[in-house]
Amino acid sequence: MTLVIEKAKEVGFCYGVRRAIEILEKAAHEHGGVETLGAVVHNEQVLQRLAKLGITVVKSVDQIRGKVVAISSHGVSPEVEDRLRASGLIRVDTTCPFVRRAQIAARRLAESGFYVVIYGDAGHPEVKGILGWAGGKGLASLEAGSLGSASGGLPRRIGVLSQTTQIPEHFTDFVRKLVESALTRDAEIRIIDTICHDIRKRQAVSLELAKTVDLMLVVGGRSSANTRRLTELCASVTATRQIETAENIDASWLKGKRRIGVTSGASTARETIDEVLAGLEALRKKG
Ligand code: SF4
Repeated sequence: MTLVIEKAKEVGFCYGVRRAIEILEKAAHEHGGVETLGAVVHNEQVLQRLAKLGITVVKSVDQIRGKVVAISSHGVSPEVEDRLRASGLIRVDTTCPFVRRAQIAARRLAESGFYVVIYGDAGHPEVKGILGWAGGKGLASLEAGSLGSASGGLPRRIGVLSQTTQIPEHFTDFVRKLVESALTRDAEIRIIDTICHDIRKRQAVSLELAKTVDLMLVVGGRSSANTRRLTELCASVTATRQIETAENIDASWLKGKRRIGVTSGASTARETIDEVLAGLEALRKKG
């Protein structure tokens, strides 16, 4: 039986990651090196390639040893921006415009008297940054159910946003639950859809492909939130494996399969995807 391998229409770097890497490469070329505050992308292969160009990662402002610091595509809070401004270092800002949009939405909501609720992972750098733009008047959660009872309940005026990489349908569910619990308190709720267009499209084409195959391979970093969500989405309709590189493919996964789909997270380089496709092709030939 012939094994068909199909690649999703949207793979490789998203707009924000491509833009961030271009800015960093230019800065490293100009200044001889750049330290990024946190990983610029959650993908080990990409970070290793960037390190060879002099683009390295530091965990905090105190660890910076060079003269150039970069803010990652995930963005930071205004406090961290102020600290970097005061540090005298050369600053390179690669905050993705979609993340900036969410940051500005959080600030406007907070300034208008809304308590900001972010549908997202509270530990993720992007979410921490957006919360900072809400000036401490907000929280992040993936569970709407617990919010009504947590810390004495939510204020009456609530502004709702999403982490840019969340699954749109899950955000809708979150909002629905929040509305249900808040409507008993004469609430005012403002909802702003801050899910990134690139992620929305990537999720849609990957899901379409997943519906037509017996196995989906999602290529991306283990710590990449958007890759994990893509895996979760594809796994809802077919057998799915998340891999980082071609070396992670287990030949036994292909047994009895007729169609295999390949997609990737937003921080996966095209070369890594091409290597996965070549690895699958080699296994197919072996039969
Ligand atoms: S996934 Fe979307 S929000 Fe995140 S960096 Fe890429 S384009 Fe920007």
